[in-house]
Amino acid sequence: MGLMRLLPRPNLRSHTTTEETSLQRVIVFANQKGGVAKTTTTLNLGVAFKELGHRVLVIDLDPQGNLTMSQGMNPDAIERSMFDVLVHRLPITEIIHTAEVDVAVSSIDLAGAELALSAMIGRERALEKSLLEIRDSYDFIMIDTPPSLGLLTINAFVAATGVIVPVQCEYLSLRGLVQLENTLAMVRENLNPDVKIEGILPTMFDARTLHAREAIEILEENFGELVYKTRIRKTVRYAEAPVKGSSILKYDPTGTAADAYRDLAKEVLHGAKSREHA
Ligand code: ADP
Ligand code: MG
Repeated sequence: MGLMRLLPRPNLRSHTTTEETSLQRVIVFANQKGGVAKTTTTLNLGVAFKELGHRVLVIDLDPQGNLTMSQGMNPDAIERSMFDVLVHRLPITEIIHTAEVDVAVSSIDLAGAELALSAMIGRERALEKSLLEIRDSYDFIMIDTPPSLGLLTINAFVAATGVIVPVQCEYLSLRGLVQLENTLAMVRENLNPDVKIEGILPTMFDARTLHAREAIEILEENFGELVYKTRIRKTVRYAEAPVKGSSILKYDPTGTAADAYRDLAKEVLHGAKSREHA
């Protein structure tokens, strides 16, 4: 601070750069329940941010490799993956593949990462460390996690600026959300004081059923403003796209399913109001 005041004129260019850097967001998609659209949301929201001109990296931290597959790559044929990054400190740039967005890939090896990491000092910070070298290369780093609150997900929470929790309107588990929040509270206390749930996303919403509408009401009663106004409706389009190795925005660019994730992108960037004016 003192030194800055001594300089005759602030260097505007480097000032801008600093601000841009600090705006980078690392968003983690988490819910220990499987099948709630974590992977679908990581990819499609990532592609929607890219459409808006942002630089996007998605990271597949799930040993099942669904995110990797959904961009047309085969996790069984991948030699080096996030496993090598976390356990062997391989630079993450070595395992980033270019697809619709940049993808840091998973392979089945990753299933052994929790055990391998558990014996290491700094085991919760392996991912955070690996992201340092690419800090300036991306505006959004979006991390897909496995359906558990184990060490891989904890690594993601430690590296995160915020957490988005997709919840399936049909099988709403408030107990699951409390458990997730408890884990986050522990991470805040010990590892990353800033991490918090930045939004809860209702997915697989079927407006025709009373059950789905009630599920949203319960969410809003309990979590208020944290619940996004964007609802991701239930449609088979979301399941068709990954089979073709593409996002819904590429598979059916003019469809309502793609628009839902474009709406979500605006809401995540600018808040609920922005959706109506863009
Ligand atoms: P998770 O990563 O939480 O396990 P996925 O994103 O893999 O969940 O989604 C689970 C399954 O549901 C996938 O087959 C996916 O294509 C499908 N799916 C995702 N979102 C929707 C939706 N809005 N409507 C219908 N099916 C969906
Ligand atoms: Mg998944």
